[in-house]
Amino acid sequence: MDADDTDSYARETRALDRLGILLGARVQRDVKLAAYTTYKVGGPASLLVKARSIDDLHAVSNALREKRVPLLVIGRGSNLLVADEGFAGLVVVLGEFAEQIIWPEQPAVPRVVAGGAVALPVLARQSAARGLTGFEWGVGVPGSVGGGVRMNAGGHGSDMAASLESIKIFHLLKGIVANVAAKDVGLRFRGSDLEPYHVVISASFALSWGDQQASEAEMAEIVRWRRERQPGGHNAGSVFVNPAPDGGSAGALIDGLGLRGLRIGTAEVSDKHANFIQVDPGGSADDVAELMALVRARVLSETGVDLHSEVRLVGFDPEVASNAGAQVGGTSNNAPNDSSGGTRLDALFGPLVSDDNTLSAVVISPPLPDEAVVELSELFADTGAITRPDDTPSVADSSQTPVGEVVDISTAIQAREVQQAAAGEPVVIDDAQHLLPHERSEASTGVSGAVSTFANTAALGDVIVDDRIGRRTWWKRVPRLRVSPLVGFGVLIAVFSLTLVILASPLFAVRRIDVTGVTYSDPALLGNVSDSLRGASVFTADLEGAQRRLEGDPWVRQARLNWYLPNRVVIEIEERRAVAWFVGVDNRARVLDIDGRVLEVLDGQPTQFMKIEGVGPNLPPGTVTTLVYQAAAQLANSLPADLLPQVRHVFVDGPEALGITLKKGTIITLGAPVDVRNKLTQVMVLLTQQDVSFIAAIDVSSGQPVIANE
Ligand SMILES: Cc1cc2nc3c(=O)[nH]c(=O)nc-3n(C[C@H](O)[C@H](O)[C@H](O)COP(=O)(O)OP(=O)(O)OC[C@H]3O[C@@H](n4cnc5c(N)ncnc54)[C@H](O)[C@@H]3O)c2cc1C
Repeated sequence: MDADDTDSYARETRALDRLGILLGARVQRDVKLAAYTTYKVGGPASLLVKARSIDDLHAVSNALREKRVPLLVIGRGSNLLVADEGFAGLVVVLGEFAEQIIWPEQPAVPRVVAGGAVALPVLARQSAARGLTGFEWGVGVPGSVGGGVRMNAGGHGSDMAASLESIKIFHLLKGIVANVAAKDVGLRFRGSDLEPYHVVISASFALSWGDQQASEAEMAEIVRWRRERQPGGHNAGSVFVNPAPDGGSAGALIDGLGLRGLRIGTAEVSDKHANFIQVDPGGSADDVAELMALVRARVLSETGVDLHSEVRLVGFDPEVASNAGAQVGGTSNNAPNDSSGGTRLDALFGPLVSDDNTLSAVVISPPLPDEAVVELSELFADTGAITRPDDTPSVADSSQTPVGEVVDISTAIQAREVQQAAAGEPVVIDDAQHLLPHERSEASTGVSGAVSTFANTAALGDVIVDDRIGRRTWWKRVPRLRVSPLVGFGVLIAVFSLTLVILASPLFAVRRIDVTGVTYSDPALLGNVSDSLRGASVFTADLEGAQRRLEGDPWVRQARLNWYLPNRVVIEIEERRAVAWFVGVDNRARVLDIDGRVLEVLDGQPTQFMKIEGVGPNLPPGTVTTLVYQAAAQLANSLPADLLPQVRHVFVDGPEALGITLKKGTIITLGAPVDVRNKLTQVMVLLTQQDVSFIAAIDVSSGQPVIANE
């Protein structure tokens, strides 16, 4: 790598990093593309966005405004070969939102609108099942609608162009959506004018009403034909485009040279179809490209026919791609310099220069209401793209003015060509005919609806479809006010005072206090805390202080306080659990939790908890008792379920020994509170083997049970 290469590599990496940052959570990094293609080989994409909605595409577009990087839209990857090195750019994959289909109901016009991500075989089969004919050929092409349009996929005497009416394109560099007539997409044999920045969102097909059974029979025949002639495994269909009609088929030329079975590394010319190159599982894309180059060179030298790749090569060195017969630049970020030398599509969307991502200037004439002009201007802010001619009356004066017909972008360009002299024609947006079901509700609030109310007369205009228009929130419609600093300050003071008044208002004074989870906690403390809150504003009541006071009660493990408007506070108490009790020297009972914490000091005998026999220290509530009593509390809490019903109490024998007294009088000495579980297990085993009535004592303090019989 020389210095220039290093610089450009660093620049590219920086651009990708920056774009990744701009796209935030939407983007995935270093995504292996093998899984996205039918070849199942190839390296990672630097960035990948799975667009879940048009909004995601707008986000991509916004990010690209700042940093432009190589782009690649992937459909079902059935016509792609990604280099082993991967693709240093941004891959866009359409999500479920582009998998919908709208079907006509007989006898309506048999028009089908399918999302760009719909699989062609699915569209074919479902069309047939609904009695529609004209798309049966699609059953054998494992691509998507978007990829199918881009490639003008076809077979069995038909292709996309045969039924395609229009497509909805999202222009990634301009951030606009447009419906474009099929004739303006430059469809040709296995190709089109679509560029890497054109994303096919949906396509509209004109089919015919036919006979379901006949269509299904035709598809069965297509499938049978393909199974017979085409190999399975990992491939991307025909590798080379058939040369001009007199040049024979690419497959026949390759076959004629006896190249079936020719292999380089993991790639092999198929035995079944000479124009298919297969790759071994886990193989190398670079082997495929090398084999393509070899086949192409042999065909050229021996027949004089120069084959061109039908498969799109991604991420390869331009020389390698060119040797393989691929069109170089298919995934580049280069845009045409201007529309004059570009395609009809470029002309429709307006010129795009390398450092200019803006819309071409669009002149808006009277029919657009002021609000729409403001919206358009804001959307394409600082591009200077949207202007209203100076002499144009505002919509207030022009409510009677004839306005533009609603047409789609392709019709508009024709109109522009015809009426080039007439400046100031209206820009009107019409999307209603081409919406997928998920887009419909948006459309009702979108620009289409707005347009239809005033677009009802003769003069023809330009069309821009952008479904961001009309989706703005209400506050953006509020006119921007210019206020003096003094007024602003006054408003601030007023807002501040109002806030104080609200805080002090009796409306928000705590009136209702709901308490949950209380069984043993001190009711007096609870009453005090509640009283301290009552009457205070819900906004300012000292809930934290109240929480601290409540958690001062040994019974309260945790207190949670929340306020609810206008005047309610909820106190949720989580209490500690008492497990045992013992009598102190003062003859009063100390109730313990599992940690040996004294929860309460009582005069009576709390029979609901296990007694710890012995005389313990005089501890106040909230303190933690001595180690042996802590161990006794844990023993009381963890007595085996089989033993528990037989236990009268546990006992403490001196400062370091524990034991259990059974209801039948048997004394079990556990000794020091170590290895208690094991000792208990030994006791349990003994008790299952012998009748406890005859056992006076079991001593497991040494680790071995010693039994004393009655
Ligand atoms: C076994 C097999 C048999 C095949 N048989 C045929 C056949 O009979 N006839 C035929 O024409 N092809 C055939 N193909 C090739 C392939 O299926 C078609 O070219 C198909 O149209 C590609 O669609 P895709 O979604 O897989 O596109 P991809 O392979 O994902 O992409 C192909 C091109 O389309 C672009 N693209 C993809 N989606 C979009 C989108 N939403 N918007 C804009 N651009 C997009 C990509 O950027 C790329 O440039 C075959 C392939 C295989 C594996």
